[in-house]
Amino acid sequence: MQIVLKDFTKTFDGNTVIDRMNLTVEDGEMLALLGPSGCGKSTTLFAVCGIHRVNGGQILFGDRDVSNLPSQQRNVGVVFQNYALYPHMSVFENIAFPLTVRKDSKADVDRAVRDIAELTHISELLERRPGQLSGGQQQRVALARALVRKPDVLLLDEPLANLDAKLRLEMRSEIRRIQLETGITAILVTHDQVEAMSMCERIAIMKGGKIIQIDTPKDMYSNPRTSFVAGFLGNPP
Ligand code: ADP
Ligand code: MG
Repeated sequence: MQIVLKDFTKTFDGNTVIDRMNLTVEDGEMLALLGPSGCGKSTTLFAVCGIHRVNGGQILFGDRDVSNLPSQQRNVGVVFQNYALYPHMSVFENIAFPLTVRKDSKADVDRAVRDIAELTHISELLERRPGQLSGGQQQRVALARALVRKPDVLLLDEPLANLDAKLRLEMRSEIRRIQLETGITAILVTHDQVEAMSMCERIAIMKGGKIIQIDTPKDMYSNPRTSFVAGFLGNPP
């Protein structure tokens, strides 16, 4: 599902944080929103997912204008840095939750959870509680929960920020594998340029609420259009 932001504008208390942003994420693409802290990455992602209303412009999923739809009607899967699994529920129940709230049949829930658990390589963990899992395993459960409804769009906000360096490497390629296998359109928000370059087809670099360059990792790296982009790509945090 293609995602289009048309003149997307967001203000908080009269302060314009995002000013007429235009962005197209192609069907099946994984795009990184990359930039320093405070540049407006999460604000943009929250608007796409429906947590924030837009103050101007439009957000389209395919032909559908979702700007005024609540989150539940947008068919998005989200994984945030604090992926907050329900500690009192089993892994199975955590993943099933988005389906049980909409009252899918037990057989449908069972099948969907087992399919997505297989894709995310956690089939053997379904009876455990989140507290009994490693950070990487919890992340897989959060991904499975985000994907179990077969959303049109996957939104990831700094999903690897809480993992140690070794797990972060492993989960980079795992998230990318899962995105490619499902063919889902995805936006990855990150301040880590290596993460953006290694996981995404294209990178949109943001500064002060604006996209200042959008390119493939290779083109961005070999042809940075401003010294800010060059510096940002060249200096790991
Ligand atoms: P990033 O995710 O790139 O670090 P954010 O999108 O969280 O940046 O924030 C962009 C700007 O918007 C920051 O200046 C931040 O202080 C401001 N901001 C974000 N959310 C709110 C909010 N709920 N109320 C007021 N200001 C906000
Ligand atoms: Mg953020």
